[in-house]
Amino acid sequence: MRFYRRHIVPLRLLSGTALSLLLMGATVVPRISAKVLAQKRPSRGMLTSHSSDRVSTEAREMVEVAGETVCNERVRDPKGSVPIDDMQSRPSLPVDSPEAVAGARRAQRLLPLAQRLVVASLRQLTRDYNLTGTKGQDLKIQRAVARVEAVRDVRPDVDSRDNASVLMRNPRTIIFGTIFLAGLPSDEGIISVLSHELVHIADGSQDNLKLLFRAVGNRASFLTGLKIRDQRAEELTCDLLGTLATRSYVTATPSYEALPQRISRSLEHNCVDSDEGDEDHLSPRDTIRAILFLRPALSRELVYGR
Ligand SMILES: [Zn+2]
Repeated sequence: MRFYRRHIVPLRLLSGTALSLLLMGATVVPRISAKVLAQKRPSRGMLTSHSSDRVSTEAREMVEVAGETVCNERVRDPKGSVPIDDMQSRPSLPVDSPEAVAGARRAQRLLPLAQRLVVASLRQLTRDYNLTGTKGQDLKIQRAVARVEAVRDVRPDVDSRDNASVLMRNPRTIIFGTIFLAGLPSDEGIISVLSHELVHIADGSQDNLKLLFRAVGNRASFLTGLKIRDQRAEELTCDLLGTLATRSYVTATPSYEALPQRISRSLEHNCVDSDEGDEDHLSPRDTIRAILFLRPALSRELVYGR
């Protein structure tokens, strides 16, 4: 059973109490079971070795250039997101600090929009993967949508630091660490992470999106040569839908800002120096690559600006 979802958990920085709570959750099946990203495993590095025979050289190069674009945009952008390894090294941020207050307001304001965007992106993605049309599957998608629509608020939380999470016994609230809120100073960055958590909520303890996670994981494994199953597939799908929801937001809210800059904000928190994944998560930079492999159109927009 899954009651507790973590976006990212910097295990080594957690307090003793939080750590034991998490470990308890990860090993037995208590009231709160946890999904943990320890971020201790060494990076798997580039994806080229296994994917070379499945993906053209041009496609791989496009992904690499688009990924570099994301992280270059981050550096130039006054509203660029802080990479999660940088967030992890920062001291805790009080709820009433100006950046946390601004971030919490932004997240609460954008929540209804993120909910609509996630529902639309979820419906589209299930169609893309031919997962609609059977009664049982359609019912699961309906349940997932209802769960997304039932979310009511965002709760800023000091102890969650650079994480966002959802307690499955309270699926109407997204808990958002204050460091994370402050580290995502754009609407696009916040929508991406809100959407990620909304997808966990959509799946719920009934595994409403199990087939979608599996389909995305299989496709991403094929394209990247990485093993992306089970929780890894779920996390990647959450990130993919976060990016797709953000892309829709960019279309819905035209501005003078350049397209690559705005798209990049949905992925920039993954532009880490310390690129480590674990059993449940691809490394942050592999996450960027996997999403770009899955959405070549996004790569082209990042590289060509249109
Ligand atoms: Zn997650």
